[in-house]
Amino acid sequence: MKLMQSWVESANSATTDFPLNNLPCGVFSINGEDPRCGMAIGDYILDLTALEAEGILQLGAAALFDVPFWNEVMEAGPAVWADLRAQVTAMLAAGASKRWIVEDHLVAMDSARLHLPLMVAEYTDFYSNRHHATNVSAILHGTKAALPPNWLHMPIAYNGRASSVVVSGSEVRRPWGQIKGAEFDAPIFAPSRRFDFELELAAVIGVASDRPVTVAEADAMIFGYVVLNDWSARDIQAWEYQPLGPFQAKATATTISPWIVMQAALEPFRTVTTAPEMALLPHLCAPGPMLYDIALQVAITPEGGAETVVSRTNYAEMSYASAQQLAHHTTGGCPMSVGDLLGSGTISGPAQDARGCLLELSWGGKEPVAIAGGARRFLEDGDTVTLRGAAQGDGFRIGFGACTGKLIAALADPYAR
Ligand code: CA
Repeated sequence: MKLMQSWVESANSATTDFPLNNLPCGVFSINGEDPRCGMAIGDYILDLTALEAEGILQLGAAALFDVPFWNEVMEAGPAVWADLRAQVTAMLAAGASKRWIVEDHLVAMDSARLHLPLMVAEYTDFYSNRHHATNVSAILHGTKAALPPNWLHMPIAYNGRASSVVVSGSEVRRPWGQIKGAEFDAPIFAPSRRFDFELELAAVIGVASDRPVTVAEADAMIFGYVVLNDWSARDIQAWEYQPLGPFQAKATATTISPWIVMQAALEPFRTVTTAPEMALLPHLCAPGPMLYDIALQVAITPEGGAETVVSRTNYAEMSYASAQQLAHHTTGGCPMSVGDLLGSGTISGPAQDARGCLLELSWGGKEPVAIAGGARRFLEDGDTVTLRGAAQGDGFRIGFGACTGKLIAALADPYAR
């Protein structure tokens, strides 16, 4: 697929995340005004709230952009999603006759503040990457390492907290929690010493369901994807997770990219997994390619220092796609809502520098990872973690914008009032 030319010159660059082919969905504000919905185009944001209010963009009888989140558009359904893309593409394409009316509604992205693009209904996080699951098992269990027996048959997950989800750029405070070292008989209550990131992609559910759905039906329910950082306190996690899974270790924050890339923009990049095939029960089998060729990377920038990319991997390394995860999610009768967020699970590749978290990169803290001006076993206060993802087309890329978060020091006393 070729680059679609736009009259917005910066959208025609081979290095922008936001060519006309992309049109990702975000929420922005300028000068402290109320947040509004927009789509990214090159170095600008197209103000859809204003375009709709002026009648230039029309998607039906009721206004969809009079609220500062994308849930109402999602609820309007896939036909409206397609109509929106068609109308905005026509407005922004090179030679567009409406250029003179649309031009006034472009906002420079560097003058805007970006907000959460959706109201997250509920958040579930999966564990569906074979390299990650195998590495974690080896780190925790040594020579007895093995994938959990259920892993090869279903996408394993835990129910997370929608309230923990924050937009890129939000600071993340190092949490306190219960920690028990192997050398002690009892736990202590202290700031986490093994705070980590997890590189993930997450699906945004745009169609509700109240019954079990097939993988094909699930795929059609996905509105789009965001890049996600599932911040994890490894020491808190190690003590609390048995037998019911992570709880406070994952409750501090979950950072998502400011832009939801619509599934339609990713269609040309559909692919099958690069991981070994699995013999799944019929209700979880994929009817076709369900993953996307999306290059992903993680960088760490210490306070006042330079950025170092510490991991490079690809979404195609997943063993279960979001559609399979969503289908599995509904099997027991769990209703799914518009705005549900489904994290893929940490995305690692087979290479040492393709591991998606520090737990794996430093092999449980044993092998420090070199970064500019130092090394990391786990994150230090002041570190900024930046996740990036993009599908590479012919002369263009479909990106998510940076997903960043800075780790700040734990409170001296979390109960001080
Ligand atoms: Ca995770």
